Amino acid sequence: MELLTIGAFAKASRLSPKALRLYDELGLLTPARVDPDTGYRRYAPGQLEQARLVAWLRRLGMPLARIRRVCALEAGEAAGEIRAYWARVEADTAARRDLAAFLVDHLTRKDPTMSRTTAPLALRHAALSDTGRVRASNQDTAYAGSRLLAVADGYGGGGAPAGAAAVDALRRLETETVPADDLLGALEDALVRAEQAVHGLASPGDDDADAGTTLTAMLWTGSQLALVHIGDSRVHLLRDGELFQITHDHTVVQSLIDEGRLTPEEAASHPQRSLLLRALGRGADSTPDLRLHDARTGDRYLLCSDGLSTVVPAGDIHRVLAEAPGPEAAVRELVGLANASGGPDNVSCVVADVVEQG
Ligand code: MN
Repeated sequence: MELLTIGAFAKASRLSPKALRLYDELGLLTPARVDPDTGYRRYAPGQLEQARLVAWLRRLGMPLARIRRVCALEAGEAAGEIRAYWARVEADTAARRDLAAFLVDHLTRKDPTMSRTTAPLALRHAALSDTGRVRASNQDTAYAGSRLLAVADGYGGGGAPAGAAAVDALRRLETETVPADDLLGALEDALVRAEQAVHGLASPGDDDADAGTTLTAMLWTGSQLALVHIGDSRVHLLRDGELFQITHDHTVVQSLIDEGRLTPEEAASHPQRSLLLRALGRGADSTPDLRLHDARTGDRYLLCSDGLSTVVPAGDIHRVLAEAPGPEAAVRELVGLANASGGPDNVSCVVADVVEQG
């Protein structure tokens, strides 16, 4: 087999010799032969296809380590890997889009030329947390106050104190004056406090060192609800009779669904469906999703732990939220439904209605 010089191979692959040397150094495309004396690289004509594939994947923005993996796969598997990569990029972009929208909204409100003329709104709220029918203790925390709504689902040896500490750290927002122009900063500060509180509970080597919690909370500003979300507790919004899930689970199975490797039906019975990708706890990725929601009169929000969503079908949640006369009745009925379905996990619900102040 005739080997090509780097110059000839560069010309044939429409890549620069510089790029080829880089790919070699990174282990993405190893020359067929390197002259031990001169160090000259020689390539086999059969390597052209891989060289082009590397170039295309670089153009796609795929990280080098992942390109190396793709190049080692058979065509069919490589196709699946690229599909999964792109699905992940789109999911991440969606999360960043929400953050961008949050910032646009936040800065628009700071703009003095924007004035608001809407009627003052308030929240009516209720929270209920229950051990369920199977667990020995309740590691969930549910909280509803005049400005803060929160659900935390603790896990590990010290799961209950972890969830409670996280919510407690946020509760300062109830009394603290949160400047309207620094909502984002106030939320981030509160999250740092929550994380420190959770970390402060356990020292490495403790039984509790694996303890952590999900944290999904909404802060009321008088016209908006700012959402922070880490983990697999959820927020639903009932608006104009329709139910929307406005959080995205940070779980392994959700990312498999995003990547098209798992259907939602398969996920429902997946043995590792509660494995979290993000949480507040030692060694966990605690990057929050942040969103800002304009409140409208008649909106009804539900924050819940997975003890509700894994056993109560979305249709039933929708029906209860649409029919319950007030937040108290709604949380009681939802918790009741989870327990009627076996209550395999702790279950927590917070329901808040946006009403006109009066
Ligand atoms: Mn749970």
